[in-house]
Amino acid sequence: MDPQQMLAVAVEEARAGLAEGGIPVGAALFGPDGELLGRGHNRRVQDGDPSMHAETAAFRAAGRLRGYARTTMVTTLSPCWYCSGLVRQFGIGEVVIGESRTFTGGHDWLARHGVRITLLDDQECIRLMTDFIAAHPDLWYEDIGEPPGR
Ligand SMILES: [Zn+2]
Repeated sequence: MDPQQMLAVAVEEARAGLAEGGIPVGAALFGPDGELLGRGHNRRVQDGDPSMHAETAAFRAAGRLRGYARTTMVTTLSPCWYCSGLVRQFGIGEVVIGESRTFTGGHDWLARHGVRITLLDDQECIRLMTDFIAAHPDLWYEDIGEPPGR
């Protein structure tokens, strides 16, 4: 699987989240042979759970694994500090990111700690977030823990 193919799964998740009235961020965890281990999307709104980010949802959906060094987390948006911490905590070896124009989390920090980072600058991901932030600025700034109009 190439990065763009993996990203397509995360985009499907983001769109599913949007269709549920949620924040359109999706993610998936893949194994070393490109096998899909888990997938999920941000469910802050749906579950009333501010800790249910897309990467966390995908990670939890994958269940217990013996090691994460050869896994790849793909996410539609640069991972926030919380999800970057998850990547580092469990030693996930690679992160593929749809875009970091609308939000930049901890991916440079991850790169400095040896995580392979692929940033795709994907137009569909940028459009999903740009449209969502314009339509629901309050929800978005709640999600990233910043006041509106920063
Ligand atoms: Zn996050």
